[in-house]
Amino acid sequence: MRHRYGWTLRAALTLAAAWTTNAALAQEHCDHCRTGRNQSPVRLERILAAPHAPGPRLQHAAENVQIVDNGGKNLMVRFPQASRNTLSFDERGAFPLSEFHLHAPGEHPQGSGPVPPLEIHFVHDQAGALAVVGVAVSIAQQTHPLLRRVLDALPAGAQSGTLDALDPQALRFHAGRPLLRYAGSLTTGTCDEGVSWFVYDTSPRAPLSISATDLKRYTDRFPPYARDPQGLHARVVVRGGAPVAVP
Ligand SMILES: [Zn+2]
Repeated sequence: MRHRYGWTLRAALTLAAAWTTNAALAQEHCDHCRTGRNQSPVRLERILAAPHAPGPRLQHAAENVQIVDNGGKNLMVRFPQASRNTLSFDERGAFPLSEFHLHAPGEHPQGSGPVPPLEIHFVHDQAGALAVVGVAVSIAQQTHPLLRRVLDALPAGAQSGTLDALDPQALRFHAGRPLLRYAGSLTTGTCDEGVSWFVYDTSPRAPLSISATDLKRYTDRFPPYARDPQGLHARVVVRGGAPVAVP
């Protein structure tokens, strides 16, 4: 019992810390977020290798998008309804890309590593069923040119901007890189479960990069916006195949 009490106390303290690290996120969370067994994000560990499992298929197109300051929380890029940028997997048909948004710091650490400084979530929505692709961004000399273009498209002090003919594929598709798949939830709002997560393997390095200057410019504008990793419970993470580009 003593052991159990100790664990409970530690868990409670961890939970308390988690809920106070980010006031904006803590306010959004409801009871379900505390009790769900399939919550996101998670630390990507307990990984089952399935190299022959087919990766998701990503179809892409250049589309006119809106670059949004999402209520002072983060940057979001909204795609048109019935976007031609889609994700398909498990014969479930196409999930159109609804939006992608940034988290600084990131949300999915891998193995015993730290959370990445930045993470991009591509949210695909098939009539309410969600599939999210997570892409870690690490600090390097240069910011990926397309990420730079997106960051520059949000005017200082303005609520939104636009970008014409944005093809997100260079940010969303990383050839030959395995995806770590697990069943999870939204990491904000009501933490709804039933979300299919595909997070790119970050070894030996993250798929994308940002310069320290650009990251600082971003974090000077937006406060920390990340939920702490939640328990895996009965889940496993599957390292499947790399994504497939569909013309
Ligand atoms: Zn997110």
